[in-house]
Amino acid sequence: MIESYLLKNISGYIDGQWVEADSGKTVEVYNPANGKTLANIPFMAADETKRAIAAGQSLLDSDGVPDLETRREWLEDIRDALIDEKEEIGRILCLEHGKPWKEAQGEVEYAASFFDYFAKIIDEMKPETLPEKAKDCSWTVHKRAIGVAGLITPWNFPIGMIAKKVAPALAAGCPVVIKPATETPLTMIAMFQIMHDRVDLPKGMINLVMGSSKDIGGELMSSPDVPMISFTGSTGVGQLLVEQSKDWVKKLGLELGGNAPFIVLDDADLDSAADNLIANKFRGAGQTCVCANRIYVQKSIYEAFTDKIVEKVKALRVGDGMDEDVDVGPLINKAGFDKVHDHVKDALSKGAKLVAGKHPDELDSNKNLFYTPTVITDVTQDMKCCTDETFGPLLPIISFDTDEEAVKLGNHTEFGLAAYVFGKDEKRAHKLIAKLHFGHCGYNTGTGPAAHAPFGGMLQSGVGREGGVDGLMEYVELQTVPDGS
Ligand code: ADP
Repeated sequence: MIESYLLKNISGYIDGQWVEADSGKTVEVYNPANGKTLANIPFMAADETKRAIAAGQSLLDSDGVPDLETRREWLEDIRDALIDEKEEIGRILCLEHGKPWKEAQGEVEYAASFFDYFAKIIDEMKPETLPEKAKDCSWTVHKRAIGVAGLITPWNFPIGMIAKKVAPALAAGCPVVIKPATETPLTMIAMFQIMHDRVDLPKGMINLVMGSSKDIGGELMSSPDVPMISFTGSTGVGQLLVEQSKDWVKKLGLELGGNAPFIVLDDADLDSAADNLIANKFRGAGQTCVCANRIYVQKSIYEAFTDKIVEKVKALRVGDGMDEDVDVGPLINKAGFDKVHDHVKDALSKGAKLVAGKHPDELDSNKNLFYTPTVITDVTQDMKCCTDETFGPLLPIISFDTDEEAVKLGNHTEFGLAAYVFGKDEKRAHKLIAKLHFGHCGYNTGTGPAAHAPFGGMLQSGVGREGGVDGLMEYVELQTVPDGS
């Protein structure tokens, strides 16, 4: 069992109180590196969610939205508390997710950067009076908190994903009801503990429910008091939320699946492209929605680039994220492992070559969840690793001839979250980038999102943006007030 001074309450949090599930039921959280139980968390459902929504709504009904300076202070206090507690939160995150210790610490800093950013730009919430005096009125546009926001997060960034939702929600003045992923609720509980201890938030402003996804999600979607839902997770659940949102015409922010192409042109700096690819692909053991999924390399440099990649992948150390020199941790669960395994087996059966990693016969999710980083070549578009997001440490390499072909291959997906292009000629690369249907497109970098830049998907990768001023406006309704007096 996990011991931590930030986990003295392994509970939900409603209206300023730590609470258990009404049913008394709990569910186990375990460490994917060794299968050991870390904690048993409450398994809540619709009734607890109803009370959490009511707590947020009654705060809005009684006191209204606290002023802008108060909200700025909350954000700054949360930022400072996260930085102060970085080590302990990072340790909890590493234990429940499995990602390497350093990555986990980096994720806490990343989370803090969202609170910092939204504190700095909170003046964007001030009303604006338009210069025109149409119809003999002075027109002012007020930015109103949309209301209680339902925030649903996945397990791959247990604190990063909630930071990019809760920071703009609090900046806008929206009370929140948060549902973390069942695999990684402990980091969220630790974050609630520090907000409870160190931030002067009114009761009902932040609420945490965990347990039945279907019941909690169902209540958030059917409640008229939750006008906005921000969700990060699978496209399947995202589509369900779209259906469920229709009765109340809810505003949805959806960050869904990806299938990122990584395109290396023949004039690219191959060493830099290779380093960026390794850093991008193996972060979180390949379990991020911005991880390169399909690697397209121009024919004349295909062999040279593949050789560099194979050498680097063979040097990666796999193991428990708590061990300091580990680069790649375990996969989150058996289903995640089996998906990678299935993609490798499918590709090999269709003619791909294994050039780094273990043969699938040597790997078994019943033994442990460590998947050896794998590179395959001679990959074709019909293989599962190209049509579907692998979400694990598999690098499939595909060759192409012309820039037009690279665009066609890269765009050959219904998803549109992240893409990467490497090449020295800027004009050529930007011409190609403009044709790619991906919301985030790294040029000569494999880096992912940052707090100050809007991030989100095109096509089936979702709607809305997180980060930047656009990320704040997701939690805002505009109210236009013509004043004729
Ligand atoms: P993943 O494959 O990354 O686990 P999911 O979409 O299944 O992606 O999960 C992302 C988040 O959505 C988690 O917090 C999960 O519990 C939640 N979730 C799963 N099913 C539903 C649902 N029917 N309604 C609302 N939330 C859900």
